[in-house]
Parts: sequence; C-alpha cells; structure tokens
Amino acid sequence: MARHDALTELANRVLFRERLDQRLAELERRGGSGAVLCLDLDRFKAVNDTLGHLAGDALLREIAHRLKATLRGEDIVARFGGDEFAVLLHQSDGPERAMLVAGRLIEAVQAPIILGAHEAEVGVSIGIALIPAHGDKAEVLLKRADLALYRAKDAGRNTFRFFEPAMDEEAEARRRLELDLRRALQRGEFELHYQPILDVATGTIASAEALVRWRHPSRGLVPPGAFIAAAEETGLIVPLGEWVLRAATHEARRWPEHVRVAVNVSTVQVRHGNLFPAVRAALDASGLSAERLELEITESVLMADDERASAVLHDLRSLGVRIALDDFGTGYSSLSYLRRFPFDKLKIDRSFLTEGSKAEAAAIVRAAASLGRGLGMIVTAEGVETQEQFDMAQAEGCTEVQGFLIGQPCPCGELRSRLRKSTAEPSLARQGRAHPRGR
Ligand code: C2E
Ligand code: MG
Ligand code: MG
Repeated sequence: MARHDALTELANRVLFRERLDQRLAELERRGGSGAVLCLDLDRFKAVNDTLGHLAGDALLREIAHRLKATLRGEDIVARFGGDEFAVLLHQSDGPERAMLVAGRLIEAVQAPIILGAHEAEVGVSIGIALIPAHGDKAEVLLKRADLALYRAKDAGRNTFRFFEPAMDEEAEARRRLELDLRRALQRGEFELHYQPILDVATGTIASAEALVRWRHPSRGLVPPGAFIAAAEETGLIVPLGEWVLRAATHEARRWPEHVRVAVNVSTVQVRHGNLFPAVRAALDASGLSAERLELEITESVLMADDERASAVLHDLRSLGVRIALDDFGTGYSSLSYLRRFPFDKLKIDRSFLTEGSKAEAAAIVRAAASLGRGLGMIVTAEGVETQEQFDMAQAEGCTEVQGFLIGQPCPCGELRSRLRKSTAEPSLARQGRAHPRGR
C-alpha cells in the first residue's frame, strides 16, 4: 500500500520513481528510448465542487482506468496526488510514439463520464520529456516534463507540449526574479505612485489609487505588470501587499480629509493571506479612518463561490472599508458577482474606452454605468485619455473618471501639491470640461 495510490490503485510517486530509475539504468546499459509524461486534469476542481467528493473520487477512478487501458502493459501509469498523473512510456522511438500516445490519452480522458445522474466532462494537459534527448536522470526528466506541462496548460485545455531547452531558461529567470523580489522587499526597493481620480459632479479629486513600482538598482523603475504575477505565484504578494497597505494609509493621512486612498489587493491576499488583520494593523498604525480606505479587487476573488473570500470582504466592510470591483468587464463578468457581494464601486476597465468604435464604447459604458448606479454603486471610468472620452463617460452616467487626462500616476510629493491646488481651483468639470493636468 505504501507504493500504491489507495483511491485508484495506480502506482504512487514512490513506486513511479523506482520504476523510472530501473528503466533509466536499463536504457543506459542497452540503449533505447522512452518518455516521461506529466498529466494534469482540467476542470476537475469544478466537478469536485459541484458534484461533491464522492463523484470526484469516482471520476478519478474512471480516469485511472482509461489511462491504463490506453497504454501498453509495460508502460507505467501513476497518480501523484490530486488530479496529477504521470506516465512512463517503456519505449518511444523518438517523439513519434510519445506524440501518438499523448493524443490518445487526451481523447480517452475527454470522453463524457457518467457519475450517477450526472454527466461530467474533464480534459487533460500533458507535458512530455523524452529519454534520453531531454535527460537521463529521473529528477531532471520529471522537472522538464512538468515545465512542459505548464506550457500545455497555458496553451489551453486538451493539449500536450514537449519540453524545450528555452523552458529551462525561463524557469531559471523565474527563480532569479523570485530571489530578487525577496531581496527588494528586505531592502525597501518598492515605492508607491498615486493616480488621482476625479469626481465628475464636483470636479474635485475624490481619491487616488496607489500603484506599486519597483525601484530596481540596475533596471530602473519596474512597472507592476513585470512582477505582480511572480509575487503572487511565490506568495511574496502577501508581505508586499502588507507593505503597500501600510505605506498607502500612512501617506493618505497627509491628504485633505475628503480624499480617499485606493489600494489594489490580489486574489491571493484575499484567499490565503491575512488580509483582514493586515488592513486593521495598517489603519491602526496610520490613524487613517477606515472610511478613507478603498480596496480594489478583481472578480477572480469571488470565482468558485469562495466562502472564505466573501467572509473576509464582509468583515472588511463592517470595519468601514470600501470595496471596489476593478477592471470590470475583462473577466467572466458574471452578474452574479454583483449580487454575491455589495460593492461600493464599479471600475469599468480601460479597454472599453479604447477598443472598438466610439458607438460601441458608449453603449458598453452606458450599460455598465446604469447597472452600477442601479445597484447603488459609484461608477468609475478607467483610462480616460482624451476630452472626448471624458465627455462620453460623463454623458453615459459615470460618476468618476480616472486616466491620463486627469493625471498620470505620480510620486507622493507631486500628488500632495496637486491636492492642495485641487481644493483651491474652481471646478471645470461642472461645465463639462475635465481638470487640466495640474503640475
Ligand atoms: P489597475 O488597478 O487596473 O491600475 C490601473 C493601471 O492603468 C495603472 O497601471 C495605470 O498606470 C494605468 N492607467 C491609468 N490611466 C491610464 C490611461 O489613461 N491610459 C493608459 N494607457 N493606462 C492608464 P500600472 O501602474 O502599470 O498598474 C498595472 C496593474 O498592476 C494595476 O491595474 C493593478 O492591477 C496592478 N497593481 C498595481 N499596484 C498594485 C499593488 O500594490 N498590489 C496589487 N496586487 N496589484 C497592483
Ligand atoms: Mg486598480
Ligand atoms: Mg483597473
């Protein structure tokens, strides 16, 4: 039992390793070729979540059976855990047989599966490392098949990919980035820029969004797009996010009382981090009132009906913190998210202002704005770069606008002087004109 998976009765990781080591020794003595395949089911979690654990178990057993039936007797198939499987092809004459088998495995897995009264469909992604072309050590082969698997996953469901040397380099670059990020956090190389958000009705700056940048010693100012994903994958987003919260609330304390600060919060922080205590600690340390803090989340936080995530959001809201739905319209945009959680604000993604015809942009902004307002939310148009876009956003009912026309993200000193001016300036927006870029 120590060498088999109890659920599917397939080999487990230990036995797979043993067999792989044996086969590699044989191949070294006598020559020949083989292949290691790493498999990961697509959409398994959805079946487990909707039909329950028993159905999930039955599905895994059926998949195990199908995988075995597709392979030859001398091939080894193992379950590594969860919805991960691995295959050792005893023989593979170059890539041809591996390719053929991968195609057959995909076909076998994707056929509908009857689970009691339900019918489920899952897919599988496969990464392949060839023996000896991609390595002659078990560890190397498994790692490389796994790298190829990631690539297959990226490419979409029901595909396979062979390992390529460039994948090693990318993994290496990732590792370096992770190390760099860890050090950057210790050395305090991150800084926040702030982008003003205009209240259309009053023509004054209602809030500013904190946007993190990395002041890299050799690469200069690195935008968040280059490191947030890596920080999320490695979990570093949790300490980084805590720092952002502390710095942003501290800074906002120096702004006029009516100006709020918006902080972006990653799904990882909401699901696995200690967001609630981190927010409370930042508010306590800075002395900023909770009503002046706005957290921007994306709808991915509410996907899969995550109980814990929505509990965290409700807790934050009962503190007085506002919650905004960022980048609205770019994800699944299921309207059920809007019912599942009472957002204070809807931010319409900037792609809607820039892509498609003007009439299309206006129609989408109008629909989103009336939806948001109907549910009692503030509606912000993101990415307003021209006066024409500003006029459209205003005409279609947006209550706030954000974008380069109002102001670029800027260092805290610049924003502070802008805020001092904003309270003194007469309102231009009331007459239908945006504020000039105050410098
Ligand atoms: P976001 O929250 O949607 O932030 C708005 C992004 O749009 C910012 O990019 C901003 O510079 C850009 N932007 C604003 N107005 C305009 C415009 O008129 N035209 C154009 N072309 N772009 C405009 P940035 O600073 O590069 O941030 C990118 C994303 O990185 C943010 O998107 C946000 O999702 C993420 N991010 C930034 N800071 C943090 C952070 O502290 N934590 C987390 N988790 N994510 C962050
Ligand atoms: Mg944002
Ligand atoms: Mg956004």
